[in-house]
Amino acid sequence: MAETLNNPSRYTITAALPYTNGPIHIGHLAGVYVPADIYARYLRLTGKDVAFVCGSDEHGVAISMKAKKEGVTPQEIIDKYHTIIKKSFQDFGITFDNYSRTSAEVHHETASDFFKKLYEQGDFIEETTAQLYDEEAKQFLADRFVIGTCPKCGHEEAYGDQCENCGSSLNATDLINPKSTITGSTPTTKETKHWFLPLDRYEGFLREWILEGHKNDWKPNVYGQCKSWIDGGLEPRAVTRDLDWGIPVPVEGGEGKVLYVWFDAPIGYISSTKEWAKREGKDWESYWKDENTKLVHFIGKDNIVFHCIIFPAILKSHGGYILPENVPANEFLNLEGNKLSTSKNWAVWLHEYLEEFPDMQDVLRYTLTANAPETKDNDFTWKDFQARNNNELVAILGNFINRVVVLTNKYYDGVVPEPSNFTDVDQETLDALKKYPEVISSSLERYRFREAAQEFMNLARLGNKYLADEEPWKVVKQDEQRVKTIMFVALQIATGLAVLGEPFLPFTSSKLKEILAVRSSAVETSWNDVSEKETLLEADHKINQSQLLFRKIEDSEIQTQLDKLEATKKANENENKAVTPQKDTITFDDFTKLDMRVGTIIEAEKMPKTKKLLVLKVDTGIDTRTIVSGIAESFKPEEIIGKKVTVLVNLAPRPLRGVESQGMILMTESKEGKLVFVNPDEEGVDNGEGIS
Ligand SMILES: [Zn+2]
Repeated sequence: MAETLNNPSRYTITAALPYTNGPIHIGHLAGVYVPADIYARYLRLTGKDVAFVCGSDEHGVAISMKAKKEGVTPQEIIDKYHTIIKKSFQDFGITFDNYSRTSAEVHHETASDFFKKLYEQGDFIEETTAQLYDEEAKQFLADRFVIGTCPKCGHEEAYGDQCENCGSSLNATDLINPKSTITGSTPTTKETKHWFLPLDRYEGFLREWILEGHKNDWKPNVYGQCKSWIDGGLEPRAVTRDLDWGIPVPVEGGEGKVLYVWFDAPIGYISSTKEWAKREGKDWESYWKDENTKLVHFIGKDNIVFHCIIFPAILKSHGGYILPENVPANEFLNLEGNKLSTSKNWAVWLHEYLEEFPDMQDVLRYTLTANAPETKDNDFTWKDFQARNNNELVAILGNFINRVVVLTNKYYDGVVPEPSNFTDVDQETLDALKKYPEVISSSLERYRFREAAQEFMNLARLGNKYLADEEPWKVVKQDEQRVKTIMFVALQIATGLAVLGEPFLPFTSSKLKEILAVRSSAVETSWNDVSEKETLLEADHKINQSQLLFRKIEDSEIQTQLDKLEATKKANENENKAVTPQKDTITFDDFTKLDMRVGTIIEAEKMPKTKKLLVLKVDTGIDTRTIVSGIAESFKPEEIIGKKVTVLVNLAPRPLRGVESQGMILMTESKEGKLVFVNPDEEGVDNGEGIS
């Protein structure tokens, strides 16, 4: 069992169903959608039969909760995000053959049928247990509806299904001091019946299939996680929930209950394939049941257990389905050193990127691929994004193409010249070009997308080096015949780049094919043609004028993005900052003891050897006095001279660093954490005026 399919008849490629409680960000793209799309595009280019399916995951507690919080229906939440997500994928060039949603009828039917089949076969355990119940909301509490202290690590904000601090998978009843996230109340317990998938019964199957069968071809991070789950002892897992949002449990006693979102979501791949096959007049079953079909799941590392343990157990239990050949899960991408987070808005959102960097999809695709978190967590930084663009896409690929196209138009009016005899260098260069399809394929077939993208860029480097060494712009003065050969060779490389670049840089590849006028040519060049065809671009073929493939990204554009993140950070800090509780009550007499006056700062200088202190001379209307104030981090001395301020003038003088401070200036703090004066900004208020 689990022999690797060497020559599959067809491919079913799935990409994790995005959850419709927020838009898509770069973490999702780098982890799942960009590599999956590269793989699907590559396979199609090599003539393979591919079904690349995905869809929105629209069930589960988080949707229910978001709806409750925003006072709308779950349907409104999923419609909103399904629309945003679907459009952003399209605009980004992710070529799903079908993008469905789990609220679709075909999915409700498919998932219900799966449940019924397993139920009828006696593959579930039925158990009545005491579950947490919110009396006020009249609702059972599971998953994200309950928060409490993790019994494993003591983290105080663990959820009913998982502790995000230590990664443990939990049951709601495991939590210490549980609280309902709906009403904040302490839940009681109430008996309820649920169905469980006894994963322990699948241990033998999973050991043989994964631990023995895929030891060498699955990524070490994926294999390792599976091994630790299996070795840790598999336990029955509830596949139903007491909820009113989801797919109703289709058997007797299931009233008021729905399928657990992780039971139904992976079945969504099958429903999506059905939807596609129906539309395209294909047979969906061959993509899920034929042993010669290669099934590959692209996911992030947080979904490994569901795709490698639970879903295969469901498929195995149902019978008749193939199992995934590989699950090339990626690690996480961070953003500027911090964990990406939808709820904290710490992200680069795809739909915003597409607006802010129009027609630059490929730059993000390339950056995310070049820096993909394939073997460890990685960091996305805007500086790296800029560098990848300016130093690689512009300086290497863009530069090479531009030289080739401009020179061909300049010397030959865009007509590919007839070459003469090839020198050794010419021949070596052409031979090297022919090797690239295999080199890049070999990386892609092993899910090494970073390596594959670098190999692709090496082909552009080869082109640049060839032109730099042969210097057609110099040779043209002495030997026109030789230049024809040089340009002919360079044009072959340019065509190779147009073909082999499609999986990585589809928009650029398409533009380049337009420039080279190869798109409408009688025979479209395919992946293997790059190695097999004697000539990719024949002499006498006419190409078009040059177009800009990439533009330089300026520092100011990067700064704008960094400022945006900085603002998010501040906003989060402020949200977390609790408002200081009110102090003890004072009497009116207490208040009248404070003598506050309007004053003007007339001199200001930094206190030597301190970071925070400024020494001010303030005209209080009564006198001019010295006040030492801890505001140097918020103001430069020169910018506050002449400012009107509020001064507490009868505070007992006190020495600060040897200077006697005779009063205090009233300050508050802005949202951004900057100190600001409590300042009597009105015109015509004189110094010395009291405040009451
Ligand atoms: Zn924990």
